[in-house]
Amino acid sequence: MAQLVVIPRKCTSCGQCVAACPFGAIDMPDKAEINAACKMCGICEKTCPEKAIVRLETKAKSVDKQAWRDILVFCEMSEGRLHPVGMELIGKAHELAASTGYQVDALLMGSSCQQAAEELTHYGVRHVYVYDDPALDFFRAEVFAACAEDVIRKVKPSVVLVGATALGRSLAPRLSTRFRTGLTADCTQLELKESSDLVQIRPAFGGNIMAQIVTPYTRPQFATVRYKVMDAPKRREEAGGDILPMKLPKKAVSQVQLVDKHQVPKAANISDADILVVGGRGLKKESDLEMVKELAALLGGEYAVSRPLVEKGWDTNARQIGLSGRTVKPKLIITCGVSGAIQFTACMEAAERIVAINADPNAPIFRVAHVGIVGDVYDIVPRLIADIKREKSQYAGV
Ligand SMILES: Cc1cc2nc3c(=O)[nH]c(=O)nc-3n(C[C@H](O)[C@H](O)[C@H](O)COP(=O)(O)OP(=O)(O)OC[C@H]3O[C@@H](n4cnc5c(N)ncnc54)[C@H](O)[C@@H]3O)c2cc1C
Repeated sequence: MAQLVVIPRKCTSCGQCVAACPFGAIDMPDKAEINAACKMCGICEKTCPEKAIVRLETKAKSVDKQAWRDILVFCEMSEGRLHPVGMELIGKAHELAASTGYQVDALLMGSSCQQAAEELTHYGVRHVYVYDDPALDFFRAEVFAACAEDVIRKVKPSVVLVGATALGRSLAPRLSTRFRTGLTADCTQLELKESSDLVQIRPAFGGNIMAQIVTPYTRPQFATVRYKVMDAPKRREEAGGDILPMKLPKKAVSQVQLVDKHQVPKAANISDADILVVGGRGLKKESDLEMVKELAALLGGEYAVSRPLVEKGWDTNARQIGLSGRTVKPKLIITCGVSGAIQFTACMEAAERIVAINADPNAPIFRVAHVGIVGDVYDIVPRLIADIKREKSQYAGV
């Protein structure tokens, strides 16, 4: 790790570094002092006429990587059922394991989860570590983190994969902090080097670059991946692997107590939809979203939106596709007045069929679309609706 430090005896308090620093990261109470806002840009180092600011490199301590091996996949339970992201991650873990000879294990935490544990044995895992206890009936971060920490200390996996669900996003950072190691959130690709370093690839800087992040000195390597980013493997007829019951560790205690339960009405999950019709900023007013909803309903699908529509308050983030919304992989997606910014397309381009309607023939959405319709949504969408209705009525009459 690198750090910029001031050599006080050389500093003349001239203030040139304070003026040059673009981050306001240097205070001058008496001599120059570098504060927490420092981004290590090094401008102060170059500016100081006395060479009083120097860069110190400290070599990070490296763990014995050989002592950490295999891949552990956290499989989330949701209302007594396995969340499908767990299976998707097991599929990816098998691909990664192939290059290193690693084994794939699963971690399950919940209450009455024997059936879910048995189901996991149909996905080619070696062991399913199961913490089955009423204390794990609902998600309490401290209890879940204590159990996951317990199994990680015992098993020493090189890689831990977690679904980027609400639960996973709460759990993974707690674990990476406990092990003082790295975590990359929302990875879109994963590769495992022969050295066992996991290359965690994800969009960065608003999706304009794909960052490759590695954790070269510490283990385990934590990564979260969104639902529908990886492909789930086929369920095997034959069960295999062992189910290993684990004891709740002593420190699995929480200050959180369940007082009452209220069922929140289930919102449509656009990530699960096979057919999506998406409204973008090409729609002029909120009520125009109705034709998008109608087309979606006629096709037996769901509607979704791009971010500007959420920002206008026309809909909620739960229906937003994109880096700051959801990732989707439907069989058919029809975009209506969406330009195709990278932050949007990165999270829908894996769809089987993409149909784009846009008035601008040069709109970037046409680069990812299988079928492009250059035209006005106010012309095309009502015509599509009318055609489908006519077809449906003819079909109904047969
Ligand atoms: C960090 C970050 C995260 C982001 N996350 C997301 C995200 O999660 N989701 C997201 O969507 N965006 C996200 N964005 C914003 C993104 O960059 C784009 O601004 C956004 O996707 C644009 O939405 P849009 O295509 O609906 O609107 P616009 O880019 O304004 O495109 C509107 C399109 O409609 C077409 N059009 C206009 N009128 C008609 C008509 N009558 N008929 C047919 N076509 C018409 C236009 O030709 C145009 O191509 C993010 C940006 C950043 C920096």
